[in-house]
Amino acid sequence: MAEGLKCPKCGLDIETTEAGLISVCPNPQCRADLTSLMMQAQTGAKKRDYTIARDDSVTTHEFIVRTKGLVKAYKMGEVIVQALRGVQLDIRRAEYLSIMGPSGSGKSTLFNMIGGLDKPSEGTVFIDEVDMAQLDAYELAWLRCRKIGYIFQTFNLIPVMTALENVTLPMIFAGMTTDEMMDRGKELLEMVGLGDRLHHKPLELSGGQQQRVAVARSLANAPAIVLADEPTGNLDLRTGREIIDLLQNLNRDSGVTIISATHDLKMIEASDRIVHIRDGQIERIELRSEIEIDIGTIGGKAEI
Ligand code: ADP
Ligand code: MG
Repeated sequence: MAEGLKCPKCGLDIETTEAGLISVCPNPQCRADLTSLMMQAQTGAKKRDYTIARDDSVTTHEFIVRTKGLVKAYKMGEVIVQALRGVQLDIRRAEYLSIMGPSGSGKSTLFNMIGGLDKPSEGTVFIDEVDMAQLDAYELAWLRCRKIGYIFQTFNLIPVMTALENVTLPMIFAGMTTDEMMDRGKELLEMVGLGDRLHHKPLELSGGQQQRVAVARSLANAPAIVLADEPTGNLDLRTGREIIDLLQNLNRDSGVTIISATHDLKMIEASDRIVHIRDGQIERIELRSEIEIDIGTIGGKAEI
């Protein structure tokens, strides 16, 4: 969770779990328009142009994400849960990477660290060679809004908003005009096959359709990275397959880096590399070409 974002009017600490999804101050006595706050954040971040805290050991940005010695410990009363125990991972630009591991192995924790949704206890996450820990709250909000798109297992759409409103919401924070937002929102929903569902609310859509809206929303501000945490976890085989196809096309056609936490074997087919994690550590990394599994069989199963 980003720390230090305060409402400019009443000073309330604002917690943001997803970039750009808060538009008014949650304080009922205040309700200040936070869009302007986010705009300032955007301008401020642009000015600094991410020249801070670069790691000079790397001259080209071959890796869009790098983690160094990532440790996350959750304190639960007297008990300390070690969710990550030193994760070292370099992710190439335009790579499709799947993070696989059993439930509780630390996938979501790693996802949250890479996405700047939570902070590591130790270690560093570099996005485009910028140390995320060095960013202030505004810069972090800017990065989350503009560089990263998020997709969650449970879709996380805003129920009172239509598909189009959900998709265009993050664009408000990027300073687009209403016309631009509507055009782009429609284009994205058409791309995910929902051109005829623009004005449906999430509950009027199937699970697969909701996740397609979430895919479209993740692309609102043309991010370089899409982070997907078990995006097919709540979907049946066929619908899950459709979401994977969308992510794969995005990766192939637009060079978007896809980082997906999953335990869905169908994902293997789409991935360039599979990082297996267990008990908060990388167990092994496989290249797709090395995987012995019969991918044809998996593809076949998806059609049942
Ligand atoms: P996965 O996504 O692979 O299922 P998680 O990253 O969610 O795994 O969880 C890794 C470990 O950290 C688990 O043991 C889980 O119980 C613990 N954990 C995750 N989030 C929290 C939290 N907010 N507070 C305490 N423990 C947590
Ligand atoms: Mg998880």
